[in-house]
Amino acid sequence: MPTIYRAGTVADVRNRTLLADQAIVVDEQRIVSVEPWRATQASYTDLSDCLVAPGLIDLHTHLIGDLDHGSNTPFLTKSAAWAALAGVKNAAATLRAGFTTVRDLGTFRAFIDCDLRDAINDGTVIGPRMFTTGGFVTTSTGGGEITDLALDIELPPEFRVGVADSADEVRRAVRTFIHGGADLIKIIATGAGFAAGTVPGAAEYSEDEIRAAVTEAANYGKYVAAHAHGTEGALRAVRAGVRTLDHGSYIEGDEIFDALLAHDTYYVPTTYLIHWLDAQGSSSGFPEEARRKVRAAVDLSMDALGEAVRRGVKIAYGTDAIIFPHGSNALQMLDFEAVGMNGFDVLASATINSAEALGSADVGALEPGRFADFVAIRGAKSVDDIRVFQQIDLVVKGGEMVV
Ligand SMILES: [Zn+2]
Repeated sequence: MPTIYRAGTVADVRNRTLLADQAIVVDEQRIVSVEPWRATQASYTDLSDCLVAPGLIDLHTHLIGDLDHGSNTPFLTKSAAWAALAGVKNAAATLRAGFTTVRDLGTFRAFIDCDLRDAINDGTVIGPRMFTTGGFVTTSTGGGEITDLALDIELPPEFRVGVADSADEVRRAVRTFIHGGADLIKIIATGAGFAAGTVPGAAEYSEDEIRAAVTEAANYGKYVAAHAHGTEGALRAVRAGVRTLDHGSYIEGDEIFDALLAHDTYYVPTTYLIHWLDAQGSSSGFPEEARRKVRAAVDLSMDALGEAVRRGVKIAYGTDAIIFPHGSNALQMLDFEAVGMNGFDVLASATINSAEALGSADVGALEPGRFADFVAIRGAKSVDDIRVFQQIDLVVKGGEMVV
């Protein structure tokens, strides 16, 4: 039995156009049609005072656990059960904010993300559709390790599943994550802001080692997302064939932007977290080292984003939510607007572009055959002011009203 929603305005993101007074017909969780409203429709949900847009996508979340003042050690002082329960809370906050799909880019204690994904899919808890990595492929003492412990403390094995220091070890780690249920592979190609002692600008893997991850993942029909802040690490990752370059906070120069274009790589800048962290300043309690790394990245990351937009690099949407509170994922849209993207381009980054980066024809657009995932905003009639996405009134996922 199909259900019908009457939408005052539908944002047709692919065609960059607004459609007035539409009927969205939904059956078996998916969209049957989006067509002009006819008065003959019997019973329907009335959203005639709303702007309806595709459910939003965040390609870079960390739903499992919570950071405590920028330290990764809570993952050691709290149990795996706590990390999962925090994930339940974070998943709900993300969905309430209109993000009906996320790509979750890793957890220090491996595979809890895959469990949360499965619990959402079977209806045990509510949350966005999740594409998970299981953990990080990282060099030892690199950006994906917990590095702020004394050197004579040995981490339990579930925290070091993805540690790999050669191409062969990278292949082993990739197979282990895929065997454990990962949808894609996350490789840490440079140092990280919160991994004490690592250098975000420093490349941590060779191009060959990253290529080992890409080819091994491809054997299973999977792809690789690369965490890379600096230009050299980003270049190696893009040349090795990763599908998304995440962060890219300091990338500069013709070479990297040409490579992104030549390899058709999606760029997933995470500018909002940098602004947020910088604005917290000393009141955040975050370690001085992390704040220093962030401060250095504020202008550089916006320059990199602006340059990518000017050159026509494909921009997808990912925020690194966990560092800032889950549920404020839409705030990064303002950064995209600030570098000259119009409302539809910003919305496209967080819908169809991100769906393409996921390789999914199931989400990202209000089109027949896709999941009926959408958001409704009362009183809004256009996407010119992207701020409207900060106040979502209603969220539908798979044809079900979840918020
Ligand atoms: Zn991240």
